[in-house]
Amino acid sequence: MRKHWIARAALCLCALALLLPFAAAFAEFPAPRETVLESVPDFGGLNGRHVVIRYGERDALGRCTAATAVLGPELRQGEERADIADFRPTGLHNAAYGFIRDRWVYNRCHLIGRQLGGADELNNLFTGTHALNHSLMLPRENEIAAYIRKTGNHVFYRVTPLYDGDNLLCSAVLLEAESAEDAGAGLRFCVLLPNSEPGVAIDYATGYTTRADDWESGGTAAGSHAYVVNTRTGKFHAADCPDAGNISRRNRRERTGLRSDLIREGLTPCGKCRP
Ligand SMILES: [Zn+2]
Repeated sequence: MRKHWIARAALCLCALALLLPFAAAFAEFPAPRETVLESVPDFGGLNGRHVVIRYGERDALGRCTAATAVLGPELRQGEERADIADFRPTGLHNAAYGFIRDRWVYNRCHLIGRQLGGADELNNLFTGTHALNHSLMLPRENEIAAYIRKTGNHVFYRVTPLYDGDNLLCSAVLLEAESAEDAGAGLRFCVLLPNSEPGVAIDYATGYTTRADDWESGGTAAGSHAYVVNTRTGKFHAADCPDAGNISRRNRRERTGLRSDLIREGLTPCGKCRP
């Protein structure tokens, strides 16, 4: 079991290393593409005859971790779509851009997609770009769903969000899948999907974004953001935090600046909006 986890950690590190050239090529803003990894997914210990979905516990920073599943024909899509608008996965500082089809750069993405039986709960939701959700994850989920429909077989599946250090927004997600009954002959993949959006510069530490061309011309530093400070408590909030709206006018001060500067001044980030 221990060995299994060491192998998993090594795989995640390799995956992150693969992302580095992507970060360096940031200025060109290519449409995000998946990277196919050679590694064979390891689903040791899972029984491929019974459907199950296990969501990882969120970590100390509140970030969701890997979800692992055995998917199969008996798994049904959750009936009612829960209202997930109130969920705040880490790094969710949404912004609208005219050149994105649905305007908003971020979606509340399911680790295990709803069509695969994934639940509308916080441990299954992370902040992902529109491009990651629609152009990269969805086709892979469709592939799995189609395989199950066609064969009636089961599929081992794991989705792992990969964070660089203490970043609140994951840089990528690792998708691993292997069909159970035919030991991967019918379906097997291990792919790395970047959490990026063409034309948008992302600060992965916080999740704040800015237009890529602003970033290039130095117009808006990605690290500089609008905050609301409560001068009575010394807490600062993201501008869209509901708590920021409740601060009395006397104690409310709006600030634009670097998060690190506010912390240096002795202010503390709100625990809810995690600005
Ligand atoms: Zn707040």
